[in-house]
Amino acid sequence: MVKDSNISDISEEEVSQNSEGILEIPSEITLSDLANLMNVNAVELIKEFMRNGYMLAINDVIEFDVALPVAKIFGYSLDLADKRDSMNLKSAVLSEGSDDEKGEIRPPIVTILGHVDHGKTTLLDNIRNSNVVAGEAGNITQHIGAYQVEYNGSKITFLDTPGHQAFSSMRARGAHLTDIIIIVIAADDGIMPQTLEAIAHAKSSNVPIIVAINKIDHAAADQEKVKRQLSENDLLIEEWGGDVICVGISALNGDGINDLLENILVVAEISDLKTKALIGSKGIVLEAKTDKRKGILASVIVENGVFQIGDHLVVGTKKNKLRAMFDDSGKSILEAFPSTPVEILGLSALPNAGDSIYATNDEKIMEQIIKENDTDDDSYKLSEIHSGIESSDIRSINLIIKTDVQGSLEPVRSSLEGLNTEDTRVTIIHSASGGISESDVLLAAASDAMILGFNTPLEPGALTLATQSNVKLKSYNIIYQLLDDITNIMKGLADPVYEDVIEGHATVRAVFDIGKGTSVAGFYVNDGKITNESIVHIFRDQKKLFEGDIHTLKHLKDDVKEVKTGFEGGLTVNGFNDYIEGDVIEAHNTVVVEY
Ligand code: GDP
Repeated sequence: MVKDSNISDISEEEVSQNSEGILEIPSEITLSDLANLMNVNAVELIKEFMRNGYMLAINDVIEFDVALPVAKIFGYSLDLADKRDSMNLKSAVLSEGSDDEKGEIRPPIVTILGHVDHGKTTLLDNIRNSNVVAGEAGNITQHIGAYQVEYNGSKITFLDTPGHQAFSSMRARGAHLTDIIIIVIAADDGIMPQTLEAIAHAKSSNVPIIVAINKIDHAAADQEKVKRQLSENDLLIEEWGGDVICVGISALNGDGINDLLENILVVAEISDLKTKALIGSKGIVLEAKTDKRKGILASVIVENGVFQIGDHLVVGTKKNKLRAMFDDSGKSILEAFPSTPVEILGLSALPNAGDSIYATNDEKIMEQIIKENDTDDDSYKLSEIHSGIESSDIRSINLIIKTDVQGSLEPVRSSLEGLNTEDTRVTIIHSASGGISESDVLLAAASDAMILGFNTPLEPGALTLATQSNVKLKSYNIIYQLLDDITNIMKGLADPVYEDVIEGHATVRAVFDIGKGTSVAGFYVNDGKITNESIVHIFRDQKKLFEGDIHTLKHLKDDVKEVKTGFEGGLTVNGFNDYIEGDVIEAHNTVVVEY
């Protein structure tokens, strides 16, 4: 996947004619290098790949197997230059690492949440800098979404994108990566709105909480006040007879941080964190990006088993090979164990954060995983998961309530709770005063909740995010209307209302005839996204030419569910083939806007 590549920028370079017709190439080669080696115009080569079903740009990396048939069309046979090296490496690693890691104790994975400026980043930096894993000191730290430290001989993994956005969007995707949540509260500021949101996230995900009261070095620090506020929010600390561990720290000068790390290990011990007994190894994608030279780099946390160089990788129904792996200090490693964050090379399509990724050295297991992923349909279907209503006998609906002023919270809460009957139940996940924000939407997505606003505005971005993640969101000015609607939902009487929304725009950058009268439009997404379920409206000079369904949506060679802003893809549309460069594709979709 290449951002902002421009096909017209290709500069042709003269290369000498190969007399033999046999080219030795590495297992991966960029399209421009291959064009140069074969002495063909890169645009011609791009078109030929397109005819073979691959959407490629000039700087894309091509695997040997993909290049082989296309090179043949230009009269070249290809041979693998580093064939022997890569085979030796693979067998060495595979024979070494057959240990079974099932049911083994694994390091805890920790997320740090809290209000802005309360010191999350400072804490993450401090822990990392003063506790690097033995042997790694001196290496330049890499930000790969998570890092691991060693304390008293035990490892701890920290997710290093602080804040509940990252945390809840992972949860919304079904990835439950976090074992322990640290809620950072600045001692000079006390509990603030985002602290409450963080507490709601932690509670709704049933993950143990450790409270870190930060900035105890600050002149205005008041730890007692924070403890009091905690108790007012149902978090009674151990010192006061409760079960919440609370540690005073200074992320700035390091005071109390060892105490915090010790407590993390204690909670991990109590939680008895073990790998699950699964065949094959599994990880979760934290983030992914395309590097112009290296190709796709994905940060992954290993959940189960061992990831080894040479393994088959499966994401969804796509298979690749694990070509290289780096730890959080950028060091190349051959294998990675549970709870370890690694950056991996080898995927041919950009995965999404939260995707499951499987690794195995056994081809049969790989085929099995692909088959299961295909039928399982464990893909990301928020629309189904977040229906908000359970299908059991008890009808239950999760709600997030936002009101204009603190004073109206309690009446709205208690009226809603008053709707509870023997077989219907309202669960209020979070309630606060203020506008409906993106983080409310994320919390709703993560906890199957619907958002109710009472006399309160929508903050920028919240509606878009709610639409994208199929979170139901409604605002009211009159309380009985709110109660009526919820009553109707509880009774299951109300029908959903659908609305047509524009999800994105793309520009056609190239058109390819693939025979039988079918044209592929090579496009670039300018904003939003195009999904394989989009209805596309095709515009030329602001006039609509056509409206219809997408037949195929590809990124590179793969069928994909969506292509996002800044990326390229190729599509065919049922019943339309007459694209020209510059046509605008507007992607529409139908979403549920209310019950
Ligand atoms: P975040 O928004 O939660 O990630 O907060 P930051 O880590 O960026 O910290 C916000 C500000 O608080 C920065 O100016 C930090 O230097 C400061 N800060 C963080 N921890 C401490 C601390 O323990 N003591 C004091 N005095 N300041 C701190």
